[in-house]
Amino acid sequence: MNRFGIDLGGTKIEGVVVNPARPAEALCRLRVPTEAARGYRHVIAQIAKLVCMLERESGSKRPGWIGFGTPGAIDPATGVLRNSNTACLNGRRLGGDLAEALGVGAQIANDANCFALAQASLGAGRGCGVVFGVILGTGCGGGVVVDGRVLGGLHGIAGEWGHNPIPGERTPCYCGRKGCVETVISGPALERYYRKISGRRAHLPEIVSRAASGEGAARRTLRRLRDGFAVAIAAVINILDPDAVVIGGGVGNIGLLYDGETREAVQRHVFNPVVRTQFLRPLLGDSAGVFGAAMLSASSRSAATPGGSPRARRTR
Ligand SMILES: [Zn+2]
Repeated sequence: MNRFGIDLGGTKIEGVVVNPARPAEALCRLRVPTEAARGYRHVIAQIAKLVCMLERESGSKRPGWIGFGTPGAIDPATGVLRNSNTACLNGRRLGGDLAEALGVGAQIANDANCFALAQASLGAGRGCGVVFGVILGTGCGGGVVVDGRVLGGLHGIAGEWGHNPIPGERTPCYCGRKGCVETVISGPALERYYRKISGRRAHLPEIVSRAASGEGAARRTLRRLRDGFAVAIAAVINILDPDAVVIGGGVGNIGLLYDGETREAVQRHVFNPVVRTQFLRPLLGDSAGVFGAAMLSASSRSAATPGGSPRARRTR
């Protein structure tokens, strides 16, 4: 049976159908606009429309389970989504509602968990037992995969390193705490820092090229990224000790994260004389999330929707 995966983005909803024997190749890949301003019921209807389109295009019927990746966290106790940037989804029992609308079980995971799963199964972390997948861009997310399965956690927050505190930092975070990793090393945080010390506005790629040509403020900004990343990822390594850290997102493109100097900076904070953890650039491009969602249906019981078991499948 072919697998279906859906990635719920703020502006578009993307779907993929894959054959489990060749999971890195899409049989078909389609998208529809989210149109979140039209409300929750409309978003559910858009997803239902997309699933019908995927069936038509791929020539395969929907399976008993479909995997969904979404920003935010599903509370495993209640099934309620929170902290999604598609605000109309927050506070909703998304899994149960999708199961009802689609007549299938819904496996839902945070988009960083889907990214981590795709990297661990098909991407840069393939063959590694424990993979920490990072999305470092506009925000700072993370997901944990152990032996091919997403580790969701009791509260559904496993891997959320972006809201650990960085010692000495006090910048308020949208989450209500201060000095979170995200307030220091996310793309917007680094751009804010550069503006503060230089008085000039620049996007991160421009800051990187200014640093390469020796501009002091740009170099300081990248040093802040290196130091903040080192402290933050060392805390993850001390707890989880992953085989590989795969760094996605716009900030993950910056080469210094993979160099020897960053490794030495990480080493200073890790409770071991050597750090053998691999720091890897991701594979699969921007497809990682939706491929990870398709892998979910096979990998994670923790994100299963209680009301959406295959037995609840609607007669079609
Ligand atoms: Zn925070």
